[in-house]
Amino acid sequence: MHIHGTCHCKAISFTATVDPTKVLACHCDDCQKMTGAPYRTVVPAMAQNVQMTGSPKHYIKTAQSGNRRDQVFCGTCGTHLYATDPDNPEIFGLRVGAIDERASLPPQLHIWCSSAMTWITDLKNAPWFSQGPASALFTPK
Ligand SMILES: [Zn+2]
Ligand SMILES: [Zn+2]
Repeated sequence: MHIHGTCHCKAISFTATVDPTKVLACHCDDCQKMTGAPYRTVVPAMAQNVQMTGSPKHYIKTAQSGNRRDQVFCGTCGTHLYATDPDNPEIFGLRVGAIDERASLPPQLHIWCSSAMTWITDLKNAPWFSQGPASALFTPK
């Protein structure tokens, strides 16, 4: 599947070829912390099948296991773009949220569920608004 992506400020854009059956949701602590979200959705792409324009920033993250990952993001707007092995950047874990065709890339499996939010499967029970709620609903008490 051919996909297109950009960061939020559009300083960086990319195209890639991905396999939609390889999309995963990662519920690890690092993904939760770095995205500010309960999990991150990722699809792998071979580096040679990714064309990127612009100059993203890099942050080398070291996991508790000692595993190092190069986290690549837009230095202006902060949008996460992909992560890769800093010593062997052959496979890019593209951040599905930055991909225009993300609605067609649902996760096919979940990983690091030991740290998944226990309420993740209950989200359908909260009310769903087609757009942002009235400000009164979002005002802290
Ligand atoms: Zn940007
Ligand atoms: Zn993760």
